[in-house]
Amino acid sequence: MAASGSRRSFDGNGSVPNCDESRDVTDVGVQTDARVQGLAPRLSKVNLFTLLSLWMELFPKKEQEHRGIDATADSGLVVVQECRVLGLHCSSVQLHAGQVAVVKHGPRLKGCDLYFSRKPCSTCLKMLINAGVNRISYWPSDAEISLLSTDDADPSHQEAILDATAAERLKSNSRIHICVLLQSLGSNMLQFVDETSQNCDFLEKIAADDLDVAEVFRRERWSNLSDLVGRFFVDDEEQHRYVLNKMGLENFCVEPNFSNLRQHMKDLIKILASVAAGVPVLQRGYGFFTRDLQVLGSSALPQDVVRHCIIQARLLACRTEDPKVGVGAVIWAEGKQSQCDGTGRLYLVGCGYNAYPVGSGYAEYPQMDHRQEERQNRKYRYILHAEQNALTFRSAEIKDEDNTMMFVTKCPCDECIPLIGCAGIKQIYTTDLDSGKVKHDISYLRFNELSGVQKFIWQQRCSDSEEPAAPPMSNGCLKRRDEDTAFQCNKRLRS
Ligand SMILES: [Zn+2]
Ligand SMILES: [Zn+2]
Repeated sequence: MAASGSRRSFDGNGSVPNCDESRDVTDVGVQTDARVQGLAPRLSKVNLFTLLSLWMELFPKKEQEHRGIDATADSGLVVVQECRVLGLHCSSVQLHAGQVAVVKHGPRLKGCDLYFSRKPCSTCLKMLINAGVNRISYWPSDAEISLLSTDDADPSHQEAILDATAAERLKSNSRIHICVLLQSLGSNMLQFVDETSQNCDFLEKIAADDLDVAEVFRRERWSNLSDLVGRFFVDDEEQHRYVLNKMGLENFCVEPNFSNLRQHMKDLIKILASVAAGVPVLQRGYGFFTRDLQVLGSSALPQDVVRHCIIQARLLACRTEDPKVGVGAVIWAEGKQSQCDGTGRLYLVGCGYNAYPVGSGYAEYPQMDHRQEERQNRKYRYILHAEQNALTFRSAEIKDEDNTMMFVTKCPCDECIPLIGCAGIKQIYTTDLDSGKVKHDISYLRFNELSGVQKFIWQQRCSDSEEPAAPPMSNGCLKRRDEDTAFQCNKRLRS
């Protein structure tokens, strides 16, 4: 089977100067199956940033924190500087996502690429153009100020049309590239993400507790899909064409562009649904809980926020360069003051996935694991771990006075443990499926020794706790229940 369509580029954790995916991608040979060679499909950077922007729109907020005072929809935003994620944001009651970016980053926005979950309104656009951003990409569904109305006499719809017209005028008079950047997925990407999500450590942990994981995954994926389609897809083709026309995307309205666009959008939504299904919503009381006997330091984040951040890390893992195991890590910190951002006091410190050193060329390093090669030809000495990349390419300093938290999709290995301990991370949210194990070239023996860092592990809430188990939410993206705060289970779990 040919490997055409699978994308491969060796560029470390997003810090190559050239962000253009079409030039950035090194095609693999088409003579052998990529999977046999150990080359799995990867998410392109553009698609990764796009999916992160959609996911950020769903950042859990308290009910009163949702926009609703005007006709503007919530939106998500990824700020990218030289191919590295500088910020993950979402709109708040006071500010649109674009305004959050200006307030947070100011002059640092110059030259940045911005990925929005909706086309930003003219109020945001004029400030971003003024700030000298390099490029603005947006998801081609409904705009920040909704254009979905059938009633032309409706005053709010007239406002939306005026705003869309102003946005187009700003676009045509500026040199900034304001566009839709979507890329078709590699031929087996959807299947690959389904498989890796279903086999991820979070579901493996549930499987070890005798739950039917295939069923849990299928149900969760379906539920996510219906929620995400409802939010990010205009089902009615005529309405979608209308919106695209008003946003200056007439070219997308003609065939085959229109059908292709809709197919790409659906495929990306499916990826997001699968990735999120890898961390199901509080199935039978599953969540991130600590076993520490003494409760130290800051209190834990609410479970829905933890899940959101872990899924950010799972999305990053879809861009792994490790042919066998994708790992993603995200570092957030909680400041002292409430900020204008929809993420409240949380601000991004860094993120990464496992990859070869930045600037590596194709096949420059061994890609084989223990089954295939002698020790000197194995990959492990060359691959940077997700935690290492997140620390190396961080966009903010780790401050002693703030609660800095790492979210990682696999148990940190012995190589990463001292780094995490010394970097000033105060809490870690992860899985301990591999803890205590030696898996060929990587060992996970030191996780339990990690002191001074509160460990919140994916597990079932202990049944002998006095805390009542929270009922599962349908899809907890938007609802926050205070009682879902990761509570400290002050008793050792039965093994
Ligand atoms: Zn706006
Ligand atoms: Zn590691």
